Amino acid sequence: MKIKTSLIYLQHKYPFTIARRKGTAEAVPNVRIEIEHEGVVGLGEARPSAFYGGETVEIVLQTIEQAKDVIGDNPFLIEDIAHELLLRFPNSPAAAAGIDIALHDLVGKKLGVPLYQLFGLNPQKTPLTSYTIGLDSIEIMLKKLKEAAQYPIIKVKVGVENDIEIVKAIRDNTDAVLRLDANTGWTVSEAIKKINQLEKYGIEFIEQPIKPGDYAGLAEIKRNTNIAIMADEDCTCPQVLGNLAGCVDSINIKLMKCRGLCFAKKMINTADSLGLKVMFGCMTESSLPLTAAAHLTPMTKYADLDMQLLITNDPYEGLKVSEGKIILPQRPGVGAVEAAGGGNVL
Ligand code: MG
Repeated sequence: MKIKTSLIYLQHKYPFTIARRKGTAEAVPNVRIEIEHEGVVGLGEARPSAFYGGETVEIVLQTIEQAKDVIGDNPFLIEDIAHELLLRFPNSPAAAAGIDIALHDLVGKKLGVPLYQLFGLNPQKTPLTSYTIGLDSIEIMLKKLKEAAQYPIIKVKVGVENDIEIVKAIRDNTDAVLRLDANTGWTVSEAIKKINQLEKYGIEFIEQPIKPGDYAGLAEIKRNTNIAIMADEDCTCPQVLGNLAGCVDSINIKLMKCRGLCFAKKMINTADSLGLKVMFGCMTESSLPLTAAAHLTPMTKYADLDMQLLITNDPYEGLKVSEGKIILPQRPGVGAVEAAGGGNVL
């Protein structure tokens, strides 16, 4: 198979600030991946995050170059390829995810079926996605809330000093379902105190209150609060799920953390058997990986696949969102096509 890479620059509508990272107005590149086999091209995309194993765009490009022999010449051996990539490149999850997405796209196109069909899933069973409001002044956060009026589920970033005030202001202005994401911003005692203060605002769940790796801390929070807790930064691969069971209520899976659709499926099934509910989330990605992820959401209770709504130059057209409901494309493979006049593939 032939592999080509290029960079795409996605522009956030507002600088995307979370508790552990200040947002920037500058576009950060993602790596676009094309894998060609007998004239059919599968598309993938990698969004590395230094937070997970120190992966960078340079590392993604290098990994893909070195992975050519692993990718081989049979696109149908996706599981074998995914496992070999894990052994050879354990610290390059986004590169592996990009290759995995491109191979699934390629296989779906060759067979002429959309991915949900390849997975045997019912496209009517996609969940509603939340719409995310990044940290900012309360005034700007309320402006963003107004722009999100059509979405029935709002996810608010917290994990900062004035977060109770933020949530109160948001709740005073919407009846939507509210989810919060502290992005590791609290200590255990702070989390217990704040979560108890937040209870009156009717919160569905709170993502990642504390730094990853502190399972006893998560369990202590769960014992002393009444809002459901979801692991995100703590939820990287199938192996950690056993540690999280009993400490949290749910997990947030993202293709760029878990190395793609092969491992995402495993994590969803493992989580199910451990009694953990699953949300499918995303990083700063275009509609291409977002749509790939969306094809697995009939297996998940929650979705947070909204980045296409938060960027201004999506190069692709893929999943659609109608009043929060995820609508999958019917095209073969991932089903993301180049958007007319959109994006900036370099
Ligand atoms: Mg999160």
